Amino acid sequence: MRQSQLFTKTRKEAPADEVAKNAQLLIRAGYIHKEMAGVYAYLPLGLRVVEKIKQIVREEMNAIAGQELIMTALQRKELWERTERWDDDVVDVWFKSTLKAGGEVGFGWSHEEPIGEMMKAHISSYKDLPVSVYQFQTKLRNEVRAKSGIMRGREFVMKDMYSFAADEATHLAYYESTKPAYMNVYRRLGIGDDTFVTFAAGGAFTKFSHEFQTICEAGEDVIYINREQNIAINEEVMNDETLASLSITREELTMVKTAEVGNIFNFGQQKASDLGLTVKNDAGEDMPVWMGSYGIGVTRVMGVLVEKFADDKGIVWPESVAPFQIHLVGLNSEDPAIRDWTDGLYQNLRAAGAEVLYDDRDLRPGEKFADSDLLGMPYRIVASRKGKEEGVFEVVTRRTGEVRKLPEEELYRLFDNDPVT
Ligand code: ATP
Ligand code: MG
Repeated sequence: MRQSQLFTKTRKEAPADEVAKNAQLLIRAGYIHKEMAGVYAYLPLGLRVVEKIKQIVREEMNAIAGQELIMTALQRKELWERTERWDDDVVDVWFKSTLKAGGEVGFGWSHEEPIGEMMKAHISSYKDLPVSVYQFQTKLRNEVRAKSGIMRGREFVMKDMYSFAADEATHLAYYESTKPAYMNVYRRLGIGDDTFVTFAAGGAFTKFSHEFQTICEAGEDVIYINREQNIAINEEVMNDETLASLSITREELTMVKTAEVGNIFNFGQQKASDLGLTVKNDAGEDMPVWMGSYGIGVTRVMGVLVEKFADDKGIVWPESVAPFQIHLVGLNSEDPAIRDWTDGLYQNLRAAGAEVLYDDRDLRPGEKFADSDLLGMPYRIVASRKGKEEGVFEVVTRRTGEVRKLPEEELYRLFDNDPVT
């Protein structure tokens, strides 16, 4: 894409009321627009990042037989009453409204009830199981605190998946299979080494749930980790009983600040029992289905990537989610020969399948470089008069600052490499 066509502008200052680094940088770079506290719009560059994260999640969920669908944002009061979760004292993040035609509706903050109910139309026999469905949805939550930028939105994109099984063994096997699938997601996002499957508070059915916690100073959680033993415990369940059950001592654990980028939850048969989602067993009896739910905070993880990788010049995207792999910066464009040469490279790179943002604007080099650093594409290719004379392009790796002078044919290797694996 030609940058001269991109409607978004960069800015030197973030809005005064924006305190989170992730949102400050994303706003300054034109990735997002702040509508109000905790509510952000995703502009063309930001949307590309969201879509790339979604695609990675989608591939990993499809790999464990997840089937994608999309539920509704408006939800029925009666359904949530049945599981005793309509009450604001039970669920404190509800947005609710009334229909002009009469009756109340809730705005989807989660979807296990509607999905469980919907499944009753499709699951009647144990032969219909197991099944796993997922969606990407904008969740609406009336969060009290919204000071973490896109890491805690009142409106945010979540991937939520729900599994249904006829028996406990199948159910638990599926639950376990989501852990490596989730870790694949975080590894592909470039945060695998800093993300831990963490013991967290369970529910009526299980002692623990599992959170995926990524080390991040701006995160709102505190966990205790032991890297060698690959054990992580949320502070909320950090007690003698938990330590004993995991055969580890307090001294072997280190406290770290983290952001919860996902979680998985085992409902046992409770949820389906409340909803009346049952199948007949061999004896012809109605058995509640075993259910699990599995969330990933798509936009929160985008914020975590900004928080973790940004430097004092701006955003640094991992290759796997950068809106463009290459930022082509054209200098000396007042000279038609240089401009044609740079245009030619832009066409060639695109023809070879590269994703290129081409700074073809009529600005001073210093401004272009500052914007380029702020925007954070993995590779900057600078085309200049001097380079043309030498037959090379200057390539700057954003993450390391490494500078190389490469002839055109070597540029194609930059994006042939597999993204961070
Ligand atoms: P938290 O503990 O951070 O409030 P949660 O336990 O309520 O989150 P879930 O309802 O299970 O989280 O949502 C699944 C995932 O969605 C979370 O792991 C997190 O990554 C993300 N998420 C939850 N709330 C928000 C929010 N307000 N803004 C952005 N992402 C969120
Ligand atoms: Mg949580």
